[in-house]
Amino acid sequence: MSVGKILAHKGKSVMTAAATQTLQEASHILAEHRIGAVVVTGAGESVAGILSERDIVKAVARGGAAALNETVADHMTKRVVTCVAASSINQVMEVMTAGKFRHVPVVQDGRLDGMISIGDVVKHRLAELEHESASLREYITAS
Ligand code: AMP
Repeated sequence: MSVGKILAHKGKSVMTAAATQTLQEASHILAEHRIGAVVVTGAGESVAGILSERDIVKAVARGGAAALNETVADHMTKRVVTCVAASSINQVMEVMTAGKFRHVPVVQDGRLDGMISIGDVVKHRLAELEHESASLREYITAS
C-alpha cells in the first residue's frame, strides 16, 4: 500500500512548531495532541527540521529542567528523511528501521504534505496480516 492511500484515510494535517519556540512549548504541543513529534517548517512550507519527544528527553537529561527554555532550533534534527505519496509503506518501514526513528514527514513539491508515524505503519501491517489470515482460512475451508 502507498503512503498516499494511508493519508487519504487518516488526513494530511501535521502538527508543526516554530524553530523559535521553547522545548517547554513544544512539549505542550506534543502532550495536547498526544503525538510524538512536531515538524518545523521553513520557507514555502519546506521541512526544516523535526523535534521528537526523544530530543526533549535528551535535552533535559543533559541540561536539567533549564533545557526546557532552550529553543526547538537548538535541539531539532535538521537532516530529515522524508517520503512522498507514491512511497510504499514497506519503504517507509525500511527507512524507519534503518534510521531508528518513528516519524517520516511526507512532502510534495518540496512542501510538507502529511506525516507517517510508526503507529500508522503498525496499523497497516496488522490489517494486512488479518487480511492474509482471512484469505488463508477461506482457502482452507473452501478446499
Ligand atoms: P523518533 O523515534 O521519531 O521519536 O525520533 C528519534 C530521533 O530521530 C530524534 O532525534 C528525532 O529528531 C529524529 N527523527 C525523527 N524522525 C526523523 C526523520 N524522519 N528523519 C531524520 N531524523 C528523524
